Formats: sequence, structure tokens, C-alpha cells
Amino acid sequence: MESPLIMAVDLGVTNVKAALVDRRGQMTHYDERPTRMEAGTSGVAEVLVETCREILGKAGLSTRELAGVGCAVPGCVSPDTGVIVASATPSWIGVDVKQPLEQSFGRTVSVEGDGCAAAIAAYTFGPTRGQDHLLGIHIGTGISCGYLPDGRLLRGAGQAAMEAGHMPLFHEGRSCSCGHRGCWEAHAGGGALRRLLVEYRQAGHEIPELPEELAELALEANDEVAVRIWQEQGTVLGLGVAVMLDILNPRTVVFSGGYSRSWSLFKKSLLKTARERALSRNAEAAIVCAPNPHRSALLGAAVTAVRLQGPADFFVDGSHAAS
Ligand SMILES: [Zn+2]
Repeated sequence: MESPLIMAVDLGVTNVKAALVDRRGQMTHYDERPTRMEAGTSGVAEVLVETCREILGKAGLSTRELAGVGCAVPGCVSPDTGVIVASATPSWIGVDVKQPLEQSFGRTVSVEGDGCAAAIAAYTFGPTRGQDHLLGIHIGTGISCGYLPDGRLLRGAGQAAMEAGHMPLFHEGRSCSCGHRGCWEAHAGGGALRRLLVEYRQAGHEIPELPEELAELALEANDEVAVRIWQEQGTVLGLGVAVMLDILNPRTVVFSGGYSRSWSLFKKSLLKTARERALSRNAEAAIVCAPNPHRSALLGAAVTAVRLQGPADFFVDGSHAAS
């Protein structure tokens, strides 16, 4: 009998997350561990496979009993080959993610960029389900995006569209992992915030190292500096959103990624900037945060697997998404 579970993996720059996803989009056997980027691509693949094997062991399942296997990775991926065609981490460009996973699992594995994965999760589950002209903005260490004008992802001629994280928003701005300066994500992504926090500490402020700790400080202690940093990050995010509102004219914009767990802290300044700076006829798009934004790409990895391997009616009810 076919198993009603999908193995979903979200390979991030900081952490590897994996879980089994059922037909309602709910997750079990969730696991998360450091990516170990320093071990190179083969080391990263090892962590990934190891994590999945442990989950299957705990669930008492073999890979053959799964309905599908899907993996989200940072950057843009060719959906046909599973090769990373664009990435903020230059050494990952040209890396074949699909082949080593398929070898290890002994079955087909679907691979998708994390921004696209998060966008199709928003299209499949939750309050934004089925909405066309849907733009997903996924913020982790970097910023990746996915756009569905009509239920399908906009790919571009070379499968590398929607690299909005590398919009050159600032002339002579901060250096970016892509080798350029002034990219949106070099100022507004999670990695950018970590670097900003280092500068604050060097300037003598008692500010924590991690964005999640900064969020705690702002929410629980209402710390003035912490609150202001989040507001400023929202403003810089809003500038990029304004550009995309004018270029794509989306109906709905859905934020996701670990960084978006702090949505309440940067939402106000983001919305204000985006609506002020976009042309007024484009400024009215709904701008929301996904439920469980830190698990959007993981859920999207499962949706990708279903789209390419599973039965089209696999997901029975999207309204109970990803708890
Ligand atoms: Zn860049």
C-alpha cells in the first residue's frame, strides 16, 4: 500500500531541516541540525542524508514506503536537472543536488529553490491558497523569491528568474555574498542583520548576536535600540517590496523564512515604505506573513515532490497547514 507521507528537506545556509509531511500538510518527526557548510557540498549532502535516515528510522519507514521525496535548496534550481543555476553562495552554482540524493534514497527526488518552494507552499495551503499573482518573499540568511502569476512558477529563460535578493538597491552599498555591492539581501536579509548586530556591539551597544535574540529583546523588554533596528530593517525590506510591486503587480505578497517569525516587529515600517514608494495603483496588494513562516520552504519541498512525483490529489485539505 502506498504510504501517505512525503519526506521533505529544507537545506538552508545555516540549518538543514527535515520532516515527514502528511496529506493535510502536517509535519511529524521534524528534525533540524547545522548545515556544516565548511564540509563542502559532499559534507552537506552527508548531513542531509543522515538526517533523513534518522527520521525514517524513528518513523519505522523505508524510503520505498514514502509517497515522494522533495528538497528545497538556497538559490534557483533547474526543475529538470536539479542543478543549482543561481545561488548567493557561488561555490554552489552548478552543483547537482538531485543525483546524490537519488543515489542515496534509491528513488526520484524533486529539488526546488527555497523561494519558489515557499511560494508554492503559500499557493497550496493556508489563507493564501489558490491565489494567482502570488509573490512569495522568503527571508533566511539571504532573500529568495517565487512568483506564481497563474498557479505556475515564473522561471525565466535560464530558470533563474526572481533573484530579487540581488537587486542592486544601493549604489556603493554593503558587499554581498554574490560578489556585488548594495544588493537588497546584503542590507535586509538575516545575514545582513547579523552583521549589523556585530557593528552595534562594536559601537558599545549591549545587543545580542542573533536575530531571534534581538526579537526577544524587542518583544519582551521593549528595548529601544532593538525595536529601532527591527523598524529600520522593515524600511529596507519595504524598498525592495516597492520595486517588486511595481514590476510584478502581485495581488498578494507572502513573507516566509525564519526571519519572518519577527514579522510583528518589522511589518509596520515595511508596509509603510512599500506603500509609499510603489506607484499608488500597485501599492494596494495584500502583504501578509505565512503561518509558520520558518517551515514554509520545508512544506514547499513536499508540494514540489507531489507536483512532480505524487498523485495530483495527494493533499486533501490545505486548511490545516504545517503545524
Ligand atoms: Zn548579491
